[in-house]
Amino acid sequence: MSAANSSHCPFMPGRREFLGRAGLGVAGLLLSPGLLESCAPGSARAHIRGTLRGANQATGHKLWKPSQLPAPTRTLRADVVIIGGGVAGLSAKRWLHRHGQHNVLLLELDEQVGGNSAAGRNSTSAFPWGAHYLPLPDPRNTELLDFLRETGTITGTSPSGLPIYNEYHLCHDPEERLHINGHWQTGLVPEMGVPTADREQIARFFQLIEDFRQAKGHDGRDAFMIPVDASSTDEQFRQLDAISLADYLAQHGFTSEYLRWHLDYCCKDDYGTTAQHTSAWAGIHYFASRKGRAHNAESSDVLTWPQGNNFLVEHLRQQAATGILPHTLAYAVEETDAGVSVLAYDAHTHETLRVEARQALLATPQFVTQRLLPDSPGLVPLTLHRAPWVVANLTIDGLPRAPAPRLAGTTSSTAPKPLAT
Ligand SMILES: Cc1cc2nc3c(=O)[nH]c(=O)nc-3n(C[C@H](O)[C@H](O)[C@H](O)COP(=O)(O)OP(=O)(O)OC[C@H]3O[C@@H](n4cnc5c(N)ncnc54)[C@H](O)[C@@H]3O)c2cc1C
Repeated sequence: MSAANSSHCPFMPGRREFLGRAGLGVAGLLLSPGLLESCAPGSARAHIRGTLRGANQATGHKLWKPSQLPAPTRTLRADVVIIGGGVAGLSAKRWLHRHGQHNVLLLELDEQVGGNSAAGRNSTSAFPWGAHYLPLPDPRNTELLDFLRETGTITGTSPSGLPIYNEYHLCHDPEERLHINGHWQTGLVPEMGVPTADREQIARFFQLIEDFRQAKGHDGRDAFMIPVDASSTDEQFRQLDAISLADYLAQHGFTSEYLRWHLDYCCKDDYGTTAQHTSAWAGIHYFASRKGRAHNAESSDVLTWPQGNNFLVEHLRQQAATGILPHTLAYAVEETDAGVSVLAYDAHTHETLRVEARQALLATPQFVTQRLLPDSPGLVPLTLHRAPWVVANLTIDGLPRAPAPRLAGTTSSTAPKPLAT
């Protein structure tokens, strides 16, 4: 559920403060709802049952003190070792598999692969713990289209060459809603009660985005593409990576609080931080790279599944299923004459193993990568700012009979993804 009160600065707690407010200890993994204030015993919502779940911090935090982990007791050998079993690590593993590279090990600290695209299931349905939709792909992204064919998400091709999507996987109307100025409105771009001058700025911003969507660099490439490395390297666009989106907006006269709120929301949604800490290039890419076309869908439609993007994770996993080591934390990476040596801690057996490989591929979040490769000359020192997030999945036994209570004063900053109703 997302609500905007544009007269307030977005509430931006630090990670520890956020965990504290939510009742999550930093070591907390799976917690009872009683810890959440609104569901506390005796409150009107005490009947709501549920759990809070996060990534495996207990294992992850061992990275802070690697010297306390045991010495290696056995050695595994592979051509390539992949660290991290999110979408990136699994995609790399599938790609290697397709290209004849079968001697690959993937280390994943959690019990299951998936990372931010993990999912759960209850007696009613599967549900996502994080990423839950894929924007309709650009038909030129043939690699992604081929994968979607394999998963049954694309069922055919129209006479004009456009993909035909499985209607069960298409969401034509995500029913995203925003609570703004005391009302619910459809869609996430502020409209309800928004003054004319702000509306004009919002329209001007989206016209600018449309221009960027069509723009091409001197290298003949589109300015903004998915995958990112297919984007133009033309300096006129790449220089946008050197300033923040917030500064870019200020330079171009985008002062509307409503627009700024919306763009902060989008940056948190995609990059986990605000427009002040997102480059203008990345902020514009969020919008201008979306060029999906299909025979049976609008370009703004999305693909989604009950388990969210875990549907894709599961297909990636199955396509190269061997050599995945769960509950295994990589904590040291070292170059050797023969390639690379990785130390990894098995959280079940409490052993350390050494993996020797020709190459290592780090598909970890940047704050982890920096710990694994502290002296790497290629790594830009991290000054990342991150916004905490919560994904809420509600199972209801019927439609509400009374009007929904007003949520005035709630901001979306702790809930980057609005709940589709
Ligand atoms: C709340 C939220 C909603 C999102 N919604 C969408 C959406 O709807 N659509 C969309 O396309 N994208 C969405 N995203 C973005 C999307 O989730 C990510 O871009 C994508 O899942 C990231 O994949 P990844 O493999 O790069 O990283 P991650 O998913 O972070 O995977 C990294 C993996 O590495 C593991 N790991 C970390 N350190 C170690 C270590 N030392 N040793 C071993 N393993 C380690 C982690 O456990 C994790 O499994 C969302 C993100 C969030 C946070």
